Amino acid sequence: MNNARNNLTTVKRTELTFLEKLYVPTLWSGLKVTFRHFWNTLFRGKVVTMEYPEQKWTVPEGYRGAPYLVKDTEDRTKCVSCQLCEFVCPPKAIRITPPGPAVDPTTGNVEKRPKEFEINMLRCIFCGFCQEVCPEEAIFLQKDYSLTGVSRSEMIYDKEKLLALGGVHRGPIMKWKQKADEARKQDAFKPE
Ligand code: SF4
Ligand code: SF4
Repeated sequence: MNNARNNLTTVKRTELTFLEKLYVPTLWSGLKVTFRHFWNTLFRGKVVTMEYPEQKWTVPEGYRGAPYLVKDTEDRTKCVSCQLCEFVCPPKAIRITPPGPAVDPTTGNVEKRPKEFEINMLRCIFCGFCQEVCPEEAIFLQKDYSLTGVSRSEMIYDKEKLLALGGVHRGPIMKWKQKADEARKQDAFKPE
């Protein structure tokens, strides 16, 4: 214990200069930005603020917002309840209840669909691991970044809500074709 204490080094704080101690110059540099925007808004019509939440920020392509489940063009979930996303999710935001043996394979595109699928949006960190790992292209991070609710339970999105928000994903599952194409472009995969 004593040895550990002896090995501790003291980090020296940088002394503030006289002007920094006054705080006024720092305050003034902040106010300069405020006044500049005020001037530009009033006399030049350059508005730098937006009327949120009526106006929303247009997110760039590839933005990673909230993850939602998608349906195929026949209104069926693409998810096959493999639970890979649940396993990989770092904050354990996903909870899947797989179907029991009573699921009828003839009613869907897959033999196994989730009985329930929940994402706790209070836990989700929009990391995209679920989208990356999904073998069926059934879950995608979309453009929603502003999720609100009046209770914790409201922020747990169930399967119906996730599917309604996710919309339809057209076309066959191309994930592995795309991945193979990407791999072929890499040097390591070029023929000798
Ligand atoms: S985006 Fe990340 S944190 Fe959110 S549900 Fe998917 S894996 Fe979990
Ligand atoms: S969303 Fe994808 S990874 Fe998650 S359970 Fe469904 S099929 Fe598996």
